[in-house]
Amino acid sequence: MSGPARRPAGGAVRRHGVEPVSYRIVPVDPHAHLFEITLTIAQPDAEGQRVALPAWIPGSYMIREFARHVVSIGARSAGRAVRLRKLDKHTWQAGRCDGPLTLVYRVYAWDLSVRAAHLDATHGFFNGTSVFLRVLGQEDRPCEVLIEPPSGEEYAGWRVATTLPEAGARRHGFGRYRAADYDELVDHPVEMGRFTLDAFEAGGARHEIAITGRHDADTARLCRDLARICAQHARLFEPRTRRAPLERYLFLVMAVGEGYGGLEHRSSTALICSRNDLPWRGQREVSEAYRTFLGLASHEYFHTWNVKRIRPAAFARHDLQQENYTRLLWIFEGFTSYYDDLILVRSGLIGRDAYLDLLAKVITGVMRGPGRRAQSVAESSFDAWIKYYRPDENSPNAVASYYAKGSLVALALDLTIRSRTGGRRSLDDAMRLMWTRYGRHFFSRREGLGEEEFPRLLEEAVGLRLDAQIRNWAYGTAELPLAPLLKTVGVELAFGRGDQGPVSLGARLATRDRQVEIATAYSGQAAQRAGLSAGDTLVAVDGLRVDERALKALLARRKPGDRLRVHAFRRDELFECELELDAPPATDAKLKLMPGPGARATRLLGGWLGGGRSGPAG
Ligand code: ZN
Repeated sequence: MSGPARRPAGGAVRRHGVEPVSYRIVPVDPHAHLFEITLTIAQPDAEGQRVALPAWIPGSYMIREFARHVVSIGARSAGRAVRLRKLDKHTWQAGRCDGPLTLVYRVYAWDLSVRAAHLDATHGFFNGTSVFLRVLGQEDRPCEVLIEPPSGEEYAGWRVATTLPEAGARRHGFGRYRAADYDELVDHPVEMGRFTLDAFEAGGARHEIAITGRHDADTARLCRDLARICAQHARLFEPRTRRAPLERYLFLVMAVGEGYGGLEHRSSTALICSRNDLPWRGQREVSEAYRTFLGLASHEYFHTWNVKRIRPAAFARHDLQQENYTRLLWIFEGFTSYYDDLILVRSGLIGRDAYLDLLAKVITGVMRGPGRRAQSVAESSFDAWIKYYRPDENSPNAVASYYAKGSLVALALDLTIRSRTGGRRSLDDAMRLMWTRYGRHFFSRREGLGEEEFPRLLEEAVGLRLDAQIRNWAYGTAELPLAPLLKTVGVELAFGRGDQGPVSLGARLATRDRQVEIATAYSGQAAQRAGLSAGDTLVAVDGLRVDERALKALLARRKPGDRLRVHAFRRDELFECELELDAPPATDAKLKLMPGPGARATRLLGGWLGGGRSGPAG
């Protein structure tokens, strides 16, 4: 349970002479995408108060330098202007002042993502990290925020959606909100506009879903399905009470034409999705698109436990001005990616076959990337700031995904534990031990999982030493023994060539201006051996001009070992090379339930996908 629930309502607490830090935010010019923020520091450092805007937002491990969107800033005290000196790219220092210090600044908000801020005449959205300057030395003080509507008749119907505790504002109204400290202030995104709103109960808490953007979603259906997911998560971590660790939770959904993404917060999540991913009235089945949305919502909701409360020790207290390094994102993102879809089948929203199809896609994605041999998921986590979050043409060769491969490490550990303990223990036990040890009391203790601690914790939770497996699978690049492990639960894994055609160029292609371009030349494969590189444009093969369709038709008539004469441009220089075609690698996974798997495997399968002895999914 986070701090605010224990605090009396009606304003931030004034601790013994400690004045709260006070913010006022106004969408001052929606057409220019400008928020104006007034920050009042009641007791500034008289010698020169420093303020700074974060360089990154927790949950998205990349330096984003939000201060670059501050377009104007000024300071006053006791009715006089105070000089502001910029110390570095995101820090300002005010001159000497005697009384309260007030800063007024404007932030340009035109990033339609879950990570920053966005404002136009249809809605406003912001994360605190984009708009609220941190008052250095006063981060632990309570904060008050006055959220105001834009001025003008056309904004009359706007409301506010956030889980910031109200301090005078009516629920969903403009007005005064509060937070226990700066960390809490920036962990509650705020949406304003004419969103649709619906609510449901799960895990003993009120859950709301606010959808912005044009859509025709069946919100009652959404609430029913999300309630099952949320209840299943709560049950996993608190099997006795089945309670979620919060009183209120909010799904903030931005529905757009094309989009996908989510960011977790302590009692809410911001999601962006295609409006076609949301279920329409009358839709009966869980379509692939809707499954994508449910998987995203499930992922972010799982983070309520795993990363917002159970945290790597390195994130227990974030330094928002610079990179924070951990090798554990394969646990915090990988395990979350494992459980997001698993919860869909355990809650009965999708069947076992649909779940195995999802899993097969993840395995295929990991197997197609040569990067899994170049980098471990622990290294990928550590270097997330410069590699995973900043992909380039060589990323498939050089980077392993701590999400996708991390989820397969979770699968491999889970199946190992289940099969060695006859189904009496599982990865769920490790999640619960991390929860009781670190998560449940996180906001009062601020302790997290140590970098080297997981093997011992796992042993304590399940009674098995799996150090070698963790070393090889997470800290090394060994292939995961998925086929024999899946066999223990009666699932057969086979690899084939899928729809890759009879031959492989060993490259990922892209079409630009109707021309075929090499997007990535895979390490050691045909295109790279022939001397082709990312960015090269293929103009002719065996003397014939090619576009995407012509190339596909030509390759369909070739076999592995055949040679192609390729004409290509690198920049504006034409060159010729000879390319020897490879057989497509057998990377495409197929999973199916084995017929007559035996009593033991059947029982283990029920425990895995059903979450208990009964195993309701089907
Ligand atoms: Zn995540």
